Amino acid sequence: MIKFDIVTLFPTLFTEHFNNLPYKKAVSKNLAEYNLWDLKNYSVNNYGSVDDKTYGGGVGMVIMVEPVFKALSDIYSEKIMDDKIKGKKDFFDRNNQKIVVLSPRGERFTQKKARELSQSTQITLICGRYEGLDARIEDNIATDVISIGDFVLSGGEIPALAVMESITRILPGVLEKEEASKIESFSLENKDGYEFIEYPQYTRPENFKGLEVPKVLLSGNHKEIEMWRKEKSTIADKN
Ligand code: SAH
Repeated sequence: MIKFDIVTLFPTLFTEHFNNLPYKKAVSKNLAEYNLWDLKNYSVNNYGSVDDKTYGGGVGMVIMVEPVFKALSDIYSEKIMDDKIKGKKDFFDRNNQKIVVLSPRGERFTQKKARELSQSTQITLICGRYEGLDARIEDNIATDVISIGDFVLSGGEIPALAVMESITRILPGVLEKEEASKIESFSLENKDGYEFIEYPQYTRPENFKGLEVPKVLLSGNHKEIEMWRKEKSTIADKN
């Protein structure tokens, strides 16, 4: 059972996803739980502010450390979070719990990282907005800082969904056909540690406006089909 806690300024962006696969399946089978924490509830003044101008000058607003700290204190406890800030991370290590901050500055997310994170008991995801989060959140509060690629989005919500969805679908019992997740792209490694991208797949009709399905797949010759598929499974670029 993995408990996901999401700290966000836009909780409604998640709800429709949670009403669909793979989340719904994971929840109904008691394999995962998803809780949304609205950062607006943790503002530091009566105006509801969670962001402020950047020190040193520059355009845009930065999300303050205090609202995020307060939300995390509700999820864990203030004592646990005070200890984390002081550099004591035993609680998170001992229980295999993660605080993931989504940031373009983070480590590049991969299927391998999804497999690693799927072993956790609790994963809290912190979504930035505006110019991003106060750097102390990445440096002193996160256990992991993750980027989903070298491009910039307006918020951490889509990155958080990408991370959660890839973890959720590999939880044993979530996919209809268990083998599917073992042979799909980025799941197989050869002896050099390289990952494969799944071979191309086709379904009916055999001929669509002149676009034909490769003959070998219609041959019924399993050995040849297997060889063809192996040949078409390309090795993913390792980066
Ligand atoms: N000023 C920042 C961009 C902030 S984007 C910069 O130039 O790097 C606002 C928020 O969106 C970030 O705090 C982060 O949570 C999220 N975000 C944007 N792109 C992302 C990416 N590629 N991976 C993960 N999170 C991302």
